[in-house]
Amino acid sequence: MAQSAAPATSSPAIPEVTPISLKEIAPWAVFGGILMLVLLYFVGAEQGATSLVSGENVHEWLHDGRHLLGFPCH
Ligand SMILES: [Zn+2]
Repeated sequence: MAQSAAPATSSPAIPEVTPISLKEIAPWAVFGGILMLVLLYFVGAEQGATSLVSGENVHEWLHDGRHLLGFPCH
């Protein structure tokens, strides 16, 4: 009769916690930072001469966020 390698205790095993190094987090931090900058651009500067998308649709969709964050609008 073979014996299992699992411990005989009935309580669930607590996983070992290892700290995440800065080297592992850095690419995700850069990615998140770029996403935040793109969002900031679309909320704050996507209008008029700096507009990437023609028309007023992007501006109208983000208009309340623009006022909430204090960007100049109208
Ligand atoms: Zn406005």
